[in-house]
Amino acid sequence: MKVRKTVQGGVVNLTKVKRDVLAEEYENLQKYLHENKDVELYSANKQQAKRYYDKIRDGKEYPISIRKDLIDVQECKSDVCDYFVKVPVAGRYGVVKIPVNTHVEIREDWEVCESKLFRKDGSFYINITVEIEVEEVERYEGVLGIDLGLRNPVVSVALPSHRSEIRGQKIKQVQSRYFYLRRQTETGKGWHRREHNKVRDQLHKITTELAEFVEENRLIVAVGDLSGIQKQDRGKTMNRKLHRFPHYSFRQMLEYKCKERGIKYIDVDEAYTSQRCSRCGELGDRNGGEYKCEKCGFEIDSDVNGARNIAGRALGKSEIRPLVNAGAPVAVPGTLSVDATSGAPMGAASC
Ligand SMILES: [Zn+2]
Repeated sequence: MKVRKTVQGGVVNLTKVKRDVLAEEYENLQKYLHENKDVELYSANKQQAKRYYDKIRDGKEYPISIRKDLIDVQECKSDVCDYFVKVPVAGRYGVVKIPVNTHVEIREDWEVCESKLFRKDGSFYINITVEIEVEEVERYEGVLGIDLGLRNPVVSVALPSHRSEIRGQKIKQVQSRYFYLRRQTETGKGWHRREHNKVRDQLHKITTELAEFVEENRLIVAVGDLSGIQKQDRGKTMNRKLHRFPHYSFRQMLEYKCKERGIKYIDVDEAYTSQRCSRCGELGDRNGGEYKCEKCGFEIDSDVNGARNIAGRALGKSEIRPLVNAGAPVAVPGTLSVDATSGAPMGAASC
């Protein structure tokens, strides 16, 4: 399986000649896009621009998109930079070899694809797209169920080990802090940006931790998904759950980080996972932070209960079961044997 990744790079140590040539190509692209001017521009760069930028917004600068067959990345042997990247330009030079530093190593077996060169605050940067061949994990030792909980942002439970972990409290702190700051000051705009960045950093940290954990323990990742539930059926709690936490970014990041490691990632319908007892499958209700089953007496943190049900429901899926080692003593919570796929309440038939 192939996975795409973007390697961010900064253009460094440009000589004056190179800087001018690059700036000219870049500025000509802007003129071409914004003013529809007939400027001198490398033909392929022009074509790329036509293909991508059919809606041009005023005041926005657009990157030079370097075609896959034209880009060339070479490792630099000296201290000047990490890599030299060849960028085709119009005019007598035809191509400039720009020195670039990247935050990660571009490995030789990675395929360099179409990449984007852009300017921000006077400096040039390049986003190098690479394609990586990933070997998919075929045998797993279990499942990690993840519930994006109400009280605890990210709750995970591994099956069969039943190890549970809670993450993301810091996101809640950041959100409340900026909520407070925004109310205290008139100009809320800057706060939004800062809050966004801080939350994003946390999301990266959490998703990396989770991806490393599942890679090490060979677990399939199953994330509870509320999107299948119709709006009118969600109710107040569900809606709050959906809006409080950046679900979409979290999923995207985690899915990508799993893919990158060849780990299977699935979304699992979350319906009733918070209402069912994860031991016997009986439908009940959470009482704030605690879930207490009236039938079997099981008491557990309600978000952990949800994550256990998600993991169990994933394990019950016909496409997942064969991937998990039969030798592993998988203690499947009661909900599974009831109705693993539809999530419909069916009573406690499994007890
Ligand atoms: Zn129970």
